Amino acid sequence: MSDKELLILVIEDEQPIRRFLKMALTDHGYGYREAESGKDGLRKVASERPDLVILDLGLPDMDGLDVTRQLREWSSVPVIVLSARGQEKDKVEALDAGADDYLTKPFGVPELLARIRVGLRHAARAATGQVESDFSFGGVRVDMAKRQVLRDGVEVHLTRIEYKLLVTLIKYAGKVVTQNQLLKEIWGQEYSEESNYLRVYMAHLRRKLEVDSAHPRHLITEAGVGYRLKAE
Ligand code: CA
Repeated sequence: MSDKELLILVIEDEQPIRRFLKMALTDHGYGYREAESGKDGLRKVASERPDLVILDLGLPDMDGLDVTRQLREWSSVPVIVLSARGQEKDKVEALDAGADDYLTKPFGVPELLARIRVGLRHAARAATGQVESDFSFGGVRVDMAKRQVLRDGVEVHLTRIEYKLLVTLIKYAGKVVTQNQLLKEIWGQEYSEESNYLRVYMAHLRRKLEVDSAHPRHLITEAGVGYRLKAE
């Protein structure tokens, strides 16, 4: 990554949250810009060219979901949406419309920074077209060129679907992937409602790859939203 200061645009109408974000972001070396409405936010994405956008879903002039949709017509900037508890449906819709991740209020600085790092890393990788064929988490190593999965050095047999699910989660590593996205990528559009498939195959994967499948540390369920592969 270059030495250029990475710029983050916060689109949020609540002043205390903007103040909190400004402090957290500038303290950690990020450039900070802000917008108080959806319209102003869209304008600033175009004029300021931020490296990442933090977008509140409850804005006074426009729905955050509409902001996401409009933005995705012309920009691939990573977007992290902020939602209040109980806004599960809005959050999922925003993610399916092209937002990259979410934070539920109230959230802490470490969580915020972790989400930002993942978002920036994915964007950087997409920009260079760089593909990694090796991926590790816990004691698991996945060699995608060989289609081989090792756990503590011992090969683990995965079925075709289990392997596809794992590789899809790796593709989005660190980011939440909605049930919809997973079902579409693995089984196809017509299966986008079959969330029970996912529960079944995730349980298989956890049994094969997690140390304690009842308390997964890497193959994480994001309740009501989807799943996240945590590598760290
Ligand atoms: Ca708000």
